[in-house]
Amino acid sequence: MTQLQQALDARAEVVVDLDAIAANTAALRERVGRPLMAVVKADGYGHGLVPAARAALAGGADALGVTVLEEALALRAAGVTAPLLSWQHAPGEDYAAALAADVEVSVNAEWALAELIDAVRATGTPARVQLFADTGLSREGATPAAWPGLVAAAARAQADGELTVTGLWSHLAYADAPTHPTIGRQVQVFEEAVALARAAGLTEARRHLANSAATIALPDTWYDMVRPGVAVYGLDPLGGNPAQYGLRPAMTVRARVALTKRVPADVGVSYGHTYATARETTLALVPVGYADGVPRAAGNRAPVLAAGAQRTIAGRVCMDQFVLDVGDDAVAPGDTVVLWGPGTDGEPTAQQWADAVDTIHYELVTRVGGRFRRRHVGSAGVLP
Ligand SMILES: *Cc1c(COP(=O)(O)O)cnc(C)c1O
Repeated sequence: MTQLQQALDARAEVVVDLDAIAANTAALRERVGRPLMAVVKADGYGHGLVPAARAALAGGADALGVTVLEEALALRAAGVTAPLLSWQHAPGEDYAAALAADVEVSVNAEWALAELIDAVRATGTPARVQLFADTGLSREGATPAAWPGLVAAAARAQADGELTVTGLWSHLAYADAPTHPTIGRQVQVFEEAVALARAAGLTEARRHLANSAATIALPDTWYDMVRPGVAVYGLDPLGGNPAQYGLRPAMTVRARVALTKRVPADVGVSYGHTYATARETTLALVPVGYADGVPRAAGNRAPVLAAGAQRTIAGRVCMDQFVLDVGDDAVAPGDTVVLWGPGTDGEPTAQQWADAVDTIHYELVTRVGGRFRRRHVGSAGVLP
C-alpha cells in the first residue's frame, strides 16, 4: 500500500508526493539537457515552499526561483544553499538582507538598480543581478526603450566591482500556445536585448526565457537554462495529460465525509437550493469549502471521487462545506472523498477541476489551503 492509499485520518488533507516533484524535475532536466531553475514561488505552488524546493533539488534542479525576497530568505533560513533568484521587488526593498543571504535579485528599472547599489555600498557586499527585459508580455521588465539605460547603468556598476550581472531574462505571453506569432517576436526582441547587453560588457550572464510550457514545447527558447514551475509539480501547462511528458501530479486533495443522511425526492440542497434531489437518495457532507480554497464556482460543476465513482458537487459550495448526492451507493461518515489528484485511481485531476470551474490548475493548487492539513509523502529531499 502506498502512503497515498493509506486511510485518511485528518478531516481534510492535501497530500504532496515529494518523489513526484523530484521525478518531474529530473524528467524536465533530461528533456532539455541543460540547467534548470525550479520555480517554487507561492509556497511551492501550494505544495510547501521548503519541501518542494528540497525535492526539486533532489531531482537535479540547479537553482530555485521565487517571486519575493521573503520566500528566498525563508529558503535560506531552512538551510537551502542552492542558487536562488527573487524577482518582484518594491521601492524600499531590503536588499541588504538579499545580499547577506546570497540571493540573486532581478531588476526591472534603473531606480531599482540604484536602490540595490545603495545597499551594496552600505554593506560592502557585491550583488548578483539579473536584468529582466520586457519583450512583449508588458508585465515585469524593462521595455526596449528603457533597456539601454538599464544595461549601461548595470555595466558601469559591474565595472566598478559593485555587482555581477549573472542573468538576462524575459517571460513569454503565449508559451501555452506554441505556434502563436508573438513567440517569435518575443524571441527576436530578447535576442536584441541580449546582444546589446553583451556589447556593453555583460558577457557572463546566462540567458533564460522558458517557463513550463516553453520547456515542453519550445526548444528555441531554452537558451542557457529553463525555468519551469507548474510542470515541476506534475501539471501540464498545455492542459493535456502530463503523463505524455513523463510528469505526474504531486498533489492530492481529499477529505472525509462528515455526515450522511437519507432524504426524499425534491429536497433542495445547500444555499439557494440550486440543486434538488431527483429521487430518494443519500446526501454526504464534505467538510471543506471556499475558505479552504475549494472554489465557490465548483458548485454543480466540479467532480469528486466518492463511493467509487466521480460525482458532481450538489448545489453551492459554502464557506466550510459542500454536499454530494450519492444515490443509493454506500457511503458512511469517515469515508474518503478525493477532490483532485494524479487521476490514476479514478479521481478527477486538477485539470478537470480547472475546466469545470473555468480557471487554470495553477489557481487551484496555489489557493487550496485554509483548514486542510498538508502532509508530505515520499522521501525526495527529506533530511535524515
Ligand atoms: C511563475 C513564473 C515562471 C514559471 O511559470 P510556469 O508556467 O509555472 O512554468 C517562470 N518565470 C516567471 C517570470 C514566472 O513568474
